[in-house]
Amino acid sequence: MHSSKAIILSIAGSDSGGGAGVQADIKAISATGGYACSVITAITAQNTQKVSAVHPVPQDMIRAQLEAVFSDLPVAAVKVGMLGDADTINTVADALEAYRPQHLVVDPVMVSANGDMLLAPDAVNSLKQRLLPLADVITPNLPEAACLTGRDIPASLREMEPLIAALIELECRAVLLKGGFLQQEPRSPDWLINGADVRCFDTPRVITANTHGTGCTLSGALASYLAQGLELELAVASAKHYIERAIEAGACLKVGQGRGPVEH
Ligand code: PLP
Repeated sequence: MHSSKAIILSIAGSDSGGGAGVQADIKAISATGGYACSVITAITAQNTQKVSAVHPVPQDMIRAQLEAVFSDLPVAAVKVGMLGDADTINTVADALEAYRPQHLVVDPVMVSANGDMLLAPDAVNSLKQRLLPLADVITPNLPEAACLTGRDIPASLREMEPLIAALIELECRAVLLKGGFLQQEPRSPDWLINGADVRCFDTPRVITANTHGTGCTLSGALASYLAQGLELELAVASAKHYIERAIEAGACLKVGQGRGPVEH
């Protein structure tokens, strides 16, 4: 049988609770019409309340997964999520430089929604030097963008300008800055910074504690839409629409005692 589905590779951590990481990526990619495959960089023991353990996958095994996928599957887009440490960043960057996928979305995952560290602090420079220059678009939330630029985390819409100006200077092609952390704002704005061009995508805020995996879902859907041939702005608008629907659907779900996932 011949399948014409675009293939999207998620290079990310596993979330045993099923809400974020590779599991969220596979759900988002499948629901948006793509074929998902994965390279797992770390195994997290995790539920809706906390990350209780992280086991980094050995570099040889990460390399073997990358080689197995890229040598056989015609990958149209790659989404990079949790990498954990500098060694893994270098291993993944080496493979991306060698195989040069057509589209690359990098979600610079640093901290989980429950506050657990998912990237070693000394790995931020490797992320900036090795991965950001390769990406078509990176998708930081406000704390991640502040960390990448050395700026303060804005507390309101009025304080966004210095951070956006610093992101324009960052060495990467485009940035989708996620404003979901501005909890007191009635709307949920994201900014697409493409060179000096800044466009705001804002949608009504859904009030819910079930936000686990929102970042993974948005970047997974974005990679899926890029792989299916949408231009960046349309892919961003479509991914934003997808995550808005997924948060709305997840708001009625009860999965675990803590921050529940979105629904795909
Ligand atoms: N990747 C993994 C493996 C995770 O466990 C998490 C959060 O717990 C994330 C990424 C980031 O999740 P979010 O989409 O909530 O930013």
